[in-house]
Amino acid sequence: MWGCFPQEGSCWRCPKLAVFPWHMKSKGKPNGKKPASEEKKLYLEPEYTRVRVTDVEFKQLVTLPQEIDLNEWLASNVTTFFNHINLQYSTISEFCTGETCQTMAACNTQYYWYDERGKKLKCTAPQYIDFVMSSVQKLVTDEDVFPTKYGREFPSSFESLIKKICRYLFHVLAHIYSAHFKEITALELHGHLNTLFIHFLLFVREFSLLDPKETSILDDLSEVLFSEENREAVGATGEAQNHVKER
Ligand SMILES: [Zn+2]
Repeated sequence: MWGCFPQEGSCWRCPKLAVFPWHMKSKGKPNGKKPASEEKKLYLEPEYTRVRVTDVEFKQLVTLPQEIDLNEWLASNVTTFFNHINLQYSTISEFCTGETCQTMAACNTQYYWYDERGKKLKCTAPQYIDFVMSSVQKLVTDEDVFPTKYGREFPSSFESLIKKICRYLFHVLAHIYSAHFKEITALELHGHLNTLFIHFLLFVREFSLLDPKETSILDDLSEVLFSEENREAVGATGEAQNHVKER
């Protein structure tokens, strides 16, 4: 169970108490907002990029173990990523509304949803993410796509479906980083988000599940997170976060 976070004066579960520090800060000129391109990317700040919940060697974790079928490995990992990204989004979903996020944008890129007939739909970020989560949930629980019973085979379209799911999940992660990182830091969940992002990105790279062009919008972040200097900083300062404690 997620409980109240032990943070002074705020609790994401109790909106009445939710007084977040950034509400008190005034940024930019009083008469206008800075253009998005000029705004500082909070998620690139060293005080946040150094934080992880573990310093485990993810490269080893993502490698296909001997004796395990590739499709089984993809199915198991992608289902887990879906659950974790869904959970991470749920922590900030009350701040992602049709008013705050009128389009599904991430780092100056706008995503559109295509319905079953291929019609392009312009939708808000929460609508888009709801489409993503519902369609992925439907796929991972479909016995014809993700078979769990002995003797059943994966469909020939399995790899392309896995790639499609990874693309959608990346869009959600990119939206959280670019539009809701302030909320993530206020909830002290940036260590979890960074750890999830590193694990996910190494996994999709290992099995070439995403076109590098797709993930290029967060190349600046991945470069910092994967840099040796940053890794050393984690070890040197012991800033790896522990799991959020229940109260
Ligand atoms: Zn949003």
